[in-house]
Amino acid sequence: MRPFAYERATSVAAATESAVQSSVHYLAGGTTLLDLMKLDVTRPETIVDINPLASTAFGRIDVSPNGLRLGALVRMSDAADHPEIREQYPVIAQALQLAASQQIRNMASLGGNVLQRTRCTYFRDTSYAACNKRNPGSGCAAINGVNRSHAVLGISNDCIATYAGDFAQALIALDATVEVAGRDGVHTLPFASLHRKPGGRPDQETNLRPGELIMSFMIPAAPWTRRSLYLKVRDRESYEFALASAAVALDQANGIVRHARIALGGVATVPWRSLEAERALQGKTIDEQSTTAAAVPAFAGAEGHGHNDFKIELGKRTLRRALQQASELEI
Ligand code: FAD
Ligand code: SF4
Repeated sequence: MRPFAYERATSVAAATESAVQSSVHYLAGGTTLLDLMKLDVTRPETIVDINPLASTAFGRIDVSPNGLRLGALVRMSDAADHPEIREQYPVIAQALQLAASQQIRNMASLGGNVLQRTRCTYFRDTSYAACNKRNPGSGCAAINGVNRSHAVLGISNDCIATYAGDFAQALIALDATVEVAGRDGVHTLPFASLHRKPGGRPDQETNLRPGELIMSFMIPAAPWTRRSLYLKVRDRESYEFALASAAVALDQANGIVRHARIALGGVATVPWRSLEAERALQGKTIDEQSTTAAAVPAFAGAEGHGHNDFKIELGKRTLRRALQQASELEI
């Protein structure tokens, strides 16, 4: 690992002031950042440890009649095990519980989780020269390479890397917002606008400006949050990233769907909300016909690159199964 300077944040203002250069990175749990530093993919000159801020609202979970507020430094395991989150926002608890391992969940923060980088092998192994995300303009080794785990939605000619996280799908499905602090103060943006599709600049993954710090996530209370779940399909049942996943939430009365909320994981370059699938379900009962009618438009724009072609069918089946299971929940 290359030498770097280490600083501890004493306040949000001090942290955001010192982190405006791109060579400065925040440190939360370190379970992504330190890996990438050891692999020589990320080369910060300075890391600013934000953990001292955990004693403030950064480290708090608040459940109120208006919704759920999660501080960015809350540990994944604390949110996954929280009784009110498990009861009122099960899709949030399940997406976290099904991620990584218990040890990583104990260490890793929610803010760091949504900003984790892709697991594309060509990105993480610097012996491959061609990776537009790591080395802009160098090409993409995955497009004609081994791409079984890669994305089929939101891809470009420059990058097909999958967004690897789980929690983000739950956030995007439940219309979460994210509170961000920067040198110009604090502002809130829809979680759906945090991540950027690769387009011609796969290296630019979010709309955060240099030095901006995620402070919290806010999930509004809504009639669909209780009837929600996260279904994750992977090569093994533990400690593995998704091949396909679905975060779904239903507001259902007398078997009829009033509102559906749907996000897909493991198949897209960014956390992927499917408004087409949501619209297809409105006013319908959940059955084979209606879930198929939702899954088809959800993957209408999907494109495989050989090894990952199977994800299009797998993604549809995952979504259909998740909807069926959510509809049958006893609330
Ligand atoms: P860090 O490593 O500290 O930070 C990650 C990035 O976010 C850094 O760039 C850092 O500068 C930035 N950052 C952190 N906090 C903030 C903030 N508040 N504001 C602005 N920037 C910030 N995840 C899944 O979702 N599903 C899985 O199945 C899964 N499996 C895994 C398996 C393994 C073996 C490993 C190592 C990881 C796995 N992960 C998985 C990823 C893991 O969940 C993330 O590494 C973790 O959530 C990152 O959180 P952290 O606090 O450690 O982030
Ligand atoms: Fe790099 Fe993206 Fe291609 Fe992977 S898919 S090699 S991250 S450009």
